Amino acid sequence: MKSFKYVLLGGGTASGYAAREFVQRGVEPGQLCIITSEAVVAYERPALSKGFLLADKPARLPGFHTCVGKGWERQTPEWYAEHGIEYMTSTRVVSADIAGKKLVLDSGEEVGYEKLIVATGARPATLRELGVPGAELEGIHYVREVAEAQALYDAIADCKARSARAVVIGAGYIGMEVAAALAGNGLAVTMVFPGGMLMERLLPPEAASFYEEYYKERGVEVMWGQRGAGFEGEEGRLEAVLLQDGRRIEAGMAVVGIGARVNKELFEGQLDMAKGGIEVDGRLRTSNPDVYAIGDVAAFPLVGYGGQLQRQEHVTNARLSAAHAVSAIMAPEETGDYEYLPFFYSRFFALSWQFYGTNKGKSVMFGDKGAAKFGMYWLAEGRVVGAFLEGGSAEEFGWIKAVALRRPEAPATEERLAAKGLAFAAAVAAQEA
Ligand SMILES: Cc1cc2nc3c(=O)[nH]c(=O)nc-3n(C[C@H](O)[C@H](O)[C@H](O)COP(=O)(O)OP(=O)(O)OC[C@H]3O[C@@H](n4cnc5c(N)ncnc54)[C@H](O)[C@@H]3O)c2cc1C
Repeated sequence: MKSFKYVLLGGGTASGYAAREFVQRGVEPGQLCIITSEAVVAYERPALSKGFLLADKPARLPGFHTCVGKGWERQTPEWYAEHGIEYMTSTRVVSADIAGKKLVLDSGEEVGYEKLIVATGARPATLRELGVPGAELEGIHYVREVAEAQALYDAIADCKARSARAVVIGAGYIGMEVAAALAGNGLAVTMVFPGGMLMERLLPPEAASFYEEYYKERGVEVMWGQRGAGFEGEEGRLEAVLLQDGRRIEAGMAVVGIGARVNKELFEGQLDMAKGGIEVDGRLRTSNPDVYAIGDVAAFPLVGYGGQLQRQEHVTNARLSAAHAVSAIMAPEETGDYEYLPFFYSRFFALSWQFYGTNKGKSVMFGDKGAAKFGMYWLAEGRVVGAFLEGGSAEEFGWIKAVALRRPEAPATEERLAAKGLAFAAAVAAQEA
């Protein structure tokens, strides 16, 4: 059995940033092994629904291997080899033996560890598992891994050649980004989702309506209050999407973004679970002292939010939790609790927004929707606890981040806060400096 001091299970975004931190902290050649079922080494996953799908000069590997998302060195396969890191690609771990401190690979081989970091992320929830008729047809796409994004990209070209429509099912960030990319590629696009408004999990209707109008103006057909109830095809290939209300949309392709399932099954019954993932403490350590979990799979205590356990399926958490876990392993005396400020961003068409903190509480909108520059504050117990901004500059995004970090007292009235708008955040940031 091969054995390593450190094993990183999963080769996604968190894994790439963990590898960087190991190297920064002086891991020795031969001490670290990374195992991933993907055929390539770690990359910046958010690129798959953005730059990867662009009509013009799409992003391709090796261009977006980690850690270019932070402007740091691009870790190609050669980088891992140079640092003496053993990287097993196209290798699935099929079982884990926590008591015996070993993993079993799909080849039947075993890999032992002293410390294990679980970075298995998540996979798309599928309509097939929900039993939707026709969900197995060719032409129905999901996007999580680079191979899937490539298949989607090829399908776009095929649809274009056949002048066929694309249907996007789901209006979370994947649905929003993919629909924009498909429209940007010149396809006719219909979005179908069960809610009443795009982005309604994040934004209240007065802000969310902006996005619906924006998409419609760019030719995207928006069908809310609808689920993909079934698919029709011929010779195994998608021909139409069927809606709940009986309508039928002819389609050359469909892209499904209806949420994710956490890859935690290997550890069920062996590690404590919480919030649909693996429970960790402030040092990203699981219920077993030699096993850590990072990224999407980890349910960690959110400092500043009463230590509530939360999972965050966001790239910033993947990067920061990775570095924190490695620091906790290699420099325990200088590592405190993981302090994370919930953050999310997205880009579609010419739009770009950021969100910090929490969207629980009363919302107050500010700015100018007509100029595509507006924002939102959330108030709870007299404090501003979250902030969203569309169309901000880097400096302005920094201001709203300062608001969510400091949670300042709210002005006396909501009207006053709305009138102050971004100036309120600027003042908070100035106090921070
Ligand atoms: C298309 C897309 C766009 C996104 N855009 C944004 C965005 O704009 N902003 C944002 O904040 N977040 C975004 N995210 C979310 C972000 O990418 C994730 O939060 C991040 O990738 C999580 O990193 P991770 O390493 O925990 O998991 P992942 O990056 O998913 O990596 C998990 C890895 O583990 C491997 N693995 C799993 N099980 C096994 C096994 N048994 N054996 C071997 N290998 C295994 C997988 O193959 C994969 O390589 C996006 C996600 C997707 C899919």
